[in-house]
Amino acid sequence: MTAQPPATVAVVDRPMRGMPVQGPSDVGYRLVDPDLVTIHVTDLGVTRGDGVFEGLGVVDGAVQALEPHLLRLARSAAMLDLPELDLDVFRAACLASAAAHEPAPFLLQKLVVTRGLEGGDGTPTAWVRTAVMDDPAIERRDGISVVSLDRGYRHDVAETSPWLLQGAKTLSYAVNKSVLREAARRGADDVLFVSSDGYALEGPSASLLARFGDRYTTPRLDLGILAGTTQAAAFEALERQGVTVEYALLTLDRVREADALWLVSSGRQIAPVTTLDGVSVPVDSAETERLGEALVGRRR
Ligand code: PLP
Repeated sequence: MTAQPPATVAVVDRPMRGMPVQGPSDVGYRLVDPDLVTIHVTDLGVTRGDGVFEGLGVVDGAVQALEPHLLRLARSAAMLDLPELDLDVFRAACLASAAAHEPAPFLLQKLVVTRGLEGGDGTPTAWVRTAVMDDPAIERRDGISVVSLDRGYRHDVAETSPWLLQGAKTLSYAVNKSVLREAARRGADDVLFVSSDGYALEGPSASLLARFGDRYTTPRLDLGILAGTTQAAAFEALERQGVTVEYALLTLDRVREADALWLVSSGRQIAPVTTLDGVSVPVDSAETERLGEALVGRRR
């Protein structure tokens, strides 16, 4: 195995809007030695998973969908009643962390904001880390097997119980990882979450895209799911080609009738689903390639 180039880390010192600027050299963040970064043992991100994050793709040096990711970070932070973030500082930190990394075709950036220290003054802890990402071409070529798992909430949970934070990208991803172990126990690669009343939602780290004939469908964004930046970019690319796209309530049974299914996300870009609950799903290789090119090639 070849050694990976080192990750780059930018620690965000001035994460909140309105924090005073400390002199002319204060840009709000510092590039630091990734081996020397430490998180305090009382950081609420560590002790309670209390915080939010974003995962951004960096392709040939360009950070993808930076503005949609920053806006989603702000939305997630607002849902958790975190202080208002200074997105200008976060934008600059993302760009600096990407630019400082040794060139590589695919990098993944993780932008993390926690509630800060237990008993502290409420200033969030924040950083951006950029590291080499697995080549997404492999899943795009081979596809993934998926099992459906009950998420345990109704499809209207975001409306009835907003305190459950469904739809925020919180740091509490233990469940999102546990479902992958359950998928592995069932011999599958990934998961499609389903609401307790039978509607398809999303993967634990990806959005669902379905093709029915010449129409592309994704689950409605008010179902307590994350508004995917990659799904939005895929819809933009499809609409540019004059293809009909729609947000819908999709039962799991309806999903099983799709002419093609994909999981899409910033990290993997696009992966065709080859089986759902052990049943073969038709794979649309030509569209996977077309959409894959559009997603990998986007520079915004
Ligand atoms: N849904 C969940 C739960 C996720 O964690 C992610 C990304 O990590 C997505 C969907 C896809 O979002 P994006 O395309 O912005 O990466």
